[in-house]
Amino acid sequence: MNPLPSLADADYRGRTVLVRADLNVPLRDGVVEDEFRLEAAIPTLTTLRRSGARVVVCSHLGRPKGIDPAFSMRPVGERLAALGGFPVTVASDVAGPGAASAVKAPGDDVILLENTRFEPGETKNDPDLADRLAALADAFVMDAFGSAHRAHSSTVGVAERLPSVAGPLLLAEVGAFERILGSPDRPYVVVLGGAKVSDKLGVIKALLPKVDVMLVGGAMCFTLLAAEGYGVGASLVEADMIDAAAEVLGSAAGSRLNLPSDLVAADRMSADSPHRVVPADAIPEGAVCLDIGPETAERFAVIAGGADTLFWNGPMGVFEWEPFAVGTRRVATAIAASSAYSVVGGGDSVAALRAMGLADAVSHLSTGGGAGLELIERGSLPGIEVLRVPRP
Ligand code: ADP
Ligand code: MG
Repeated sequence: MNPLPSLADADYRGRTVLVRADLNVPLRDGVVEDEFRLEAAIPTLTTLRRSGARVVVCSHLGRPKGIDPAFSMRPVGERLAALGGFPVTVASDVAGPGAASAVKAPGDDVILLENTRFEPGETKNDPDLADRLAALADAFVMDAFGSAHRAHSSTVGVAERLPSVAGPLLLAEVGAFERILGSPDRPYVVVLGGAKVSDKLGVIKALLPKVDVMLVGGAMCFTLLAAEGYGVGASLVEADMIDAAAEVLGSAAGSRLNLPSDLVAADRMSADSPHRVVPADAIPEGAVCLDIGPETAERFAVIAGGADTLFWNGPMGVFEWEPFAVGTRRVATAIAASSAYSVVGGGDSVAALRAMGLADAVSHLSTGGGAGLELIERGSLPGIEVLRVPRP
């Protein structure tokens, strides 16, 4: 396998460099709600500016259906400029005349192209769009770990058309995941939660043989509890996944799966619902469980606290609602307090950790949710592999 080329392998003085960053931040009413991905993207842009490059950056933002002002990069450009301390000009299109004239205009501002998903060809890795993106620059830097699992025009297509390297953020992400996928220090504990078991069953299968213990909370534990034969009331269950979950539980490494022994059961799916702690084997009919219980939280915290390598993805409960945030907080605190090498991925998990002020206490905070999980499951990502192919 060829090593990943990096900024150190290139000289960008006087050249125009297109950076694919992951600036896909949550917006509410045109205001950036979480700046984590912007903060993570900025050091690469600053390094490139200092190296004498003209910096052009692009990203997707949300899932617009065609051109939609509600998904414009303009508010992102404003925050990027304020946080980065450099001027940013947002082009009027992705790779059309607006982008071309913005890139050609004199100045040292960073040019931010419009939302790549304004181009219908982006998600189809359309060659014409990739040609037009490549024509804007002399070289390409792939730094969007959070989008590296998608073979799109702005991730893979353009990398096939320009001399391309992996940016520092992408390299840091790959390094962190290699460390937990290679020969991690033991005990190796993985904590999984969040919404959907269907998204994460492949990850459970891929990781189970490698870990010492896997702790599962969040909504995804109910499909596993149901597969064990427990009644789960009205909690979220993916009925079509129960057989696959049972297969995993019955596999050789199935005993490493550690499920909740108690849960917080609510009368209904709402922040102000009455709720009580119930044993996992006595979830009342009609109750919807919205958090792991205190006994489980304590057990998970102790197991995580004893790890030498930790990976966490997915909150333990509906942490957005204060009464159901306790389990996530207990586990997050234990992960932050541990001296293990710790990697945390997933938009909601990272947001929870940041909201608690614990972001600096983990070894690596990943900008990727799905990308990290796919990297674990498949061992590589298209947006990374394309960079290993030498190009003139
Ligand atoms: P991440 O973004 O960290 O990868 P996910 O997106 O997979 O995590 O899942 C986060 C979501 O899961 C949160 O919105 C949270 O409210 C929800 N969730 C967690 N536990 C439960 C539960 N018991 N019932 C319903 N939803 C849950
Ligand atoms: Mg999420």
